[in-house]
Amino acid sequence: MKRELKLYNTRTRSLDVFQPLHGKKVGLYTCGPTVYDTAHLGNLRSYIFSDILKRTLTMNGFQVKHVMNVTDVGHLTSDADTGEDKLQRAAKAEHQTAWDIAKKYETQFWHDIKELNILPPDIIVKATDRIPDQIALIQILEKKGFTYTTSDGVYFDTAKFPSYGALSRQKREDKVAGARVEVNQEKRHPADFAVWKFSPTDTKRDMEWQSPWGKGFPGWHIECSAISMKELGDQFDIHTGGIDHIPVHHENEIAQSEAATGKSPFVNFWLHGEFLVIPGKRMGKSEGNVITLADVIAKGVHPLAFRYLCLQTHYRQKMNFNWESLQAAQIGLEKIWHQIDEHQVHPKIGCAEFEQRFAAAVNHDLDTPRAVAIMHQLLKSEYPWSAKLQSLSVFDRVLALGLSSVDPGRLHTAVREVPAGVAQLLEQREQARQKKQWTLADTFRREIEASGYVIKDTDTGPVLHKK
Ligand code: AMP
Ligand code: ZN
Repeated sequence: MKRELKLYNTRTRSLDVFQPLHGKKVGLYTCGPTVYDTAHLGNLRSYIFSDILKRTLTMNGFQVKHVMNVTDVGHLTSDADTGEDKLQRAAKAEHQTAWDIAKKYETQFWHDIKELNILPPDIIVKATDRIPDQIALIQILEKKGFTYTTSDGVYFDTAKFPSYGALSRQKREDKVAGARVEVNQEKRHPADFAVWKFSPTDTKRDMEWQSPWGKGFPGWHIECSAISMKELGDQFDIHTGGIDHIPVHHENEIAQSEAATGKSPFVNFWLHGEFLVIPGKRMGKSEGNVITLADVIAKGVHPLAFRYLCLQTHYRQKMNFNWESLQAAQIGLEKIWHQIDEHQVHPKIGCAEFEQRFAAAVNHDLDTPRAVAIMHQLLKSEYPWSAKLQSLSVFDRVLALGLSSVDPGRLHTAVREVPAGVAQLLEQREQARQKKQWTLADTFRREIEASGYVIKDTDTGPVLHKK
């Protein structure tokens, strides 16, 4: 039976058989984090999705070159090219420079990525490390007549790019309504977007560069076009991101890239991950409902339990997050780890039938819920453990849940418990709060702090952090 990998392509709106442009080599680009704050579980879900994709490609014998940018400049608070630079705003709030903010949150991000068994990209590029490439790309666009200059920056003229909106199947005219709130009077059309922004005259930015148009900084979208094309060529295989990127960021990347090179399509397969929601609302900083991996660990949950939970929902489905299902995932995963630990035999020939079914599941648009179900069927099957262990290690090349090598240490560190005394104080504080005994609740809080922990109250209850 011929093995086919089918992926849902946002560009064609269909499940397409994946074929690389060049032999067995696959160019994969993932929009990376904006490093102005700690990544939240929603962000991390989207990187678990791209990791599953990359591992599935590798399982199919493709040689993947995975590139990711790190947005450390130019991402404004509004998609309409107005508002503050997110990094600059965080710098002000934390009394640090934008450079310090970027460094701090990027370090945290890679730490979380490692904890979640997400393979690091082959090439990681900070936007600020590629300013000359971005300027060169804007110069090409300018020379070809795709840009115009206003008092606050250089803009891409979407009227000059007839297929603008094709990815999101949106007409340019429909963009008018969405952009009504923050209109930039000098833009010729609401869909036009900044490729270069001028530094303000009244305040000094931490990050700014000289350019042929004046001192300033790149617009957010241009970095992804400049970085991806330099590393993967004018046209490449797969580009990933969250669904929020479809109507603006990715539409703009396509416009810039195809306008500059004259080649279409810029990207063959566009894949987008759905949101993680809590309760009913997208998790996001602006929603004020953020939970981080540090919060998860502080609750005594292993980071891989979060990965396991994510795999139980298909990447194109909304994922409802709640602590109960995360705890259930933790219990389920620990049970599997214990089973593996109890059956230490030499892995021998695996179960071909299960391995085939597993490959068919992930090759069907990364159907991880089905793949996980097949893993459970294998565990319950009559096959000897020598065969089960072998097949589990094959599955784990994609799932990466720590199933292939049993690390006895993990079994003991899996539950990173808060000391019993502190947990009790937390419970007493909760009870006091429920009875509206605020002074008493405060006393418990101080005792908790004296034990080296701080309490953060979240939508879904209090979580403890080590000081
Ligand atoms: P950012 O750091 O804001 O640039 O976002 C990094 C990635 O996380 C992007 O691909 C977003 O689309 C994605 N993302 C943001 N919020 C969520 C969410 N609630 N669920 C899933 N992915 C998200
Ligand atoms: Zn991007």
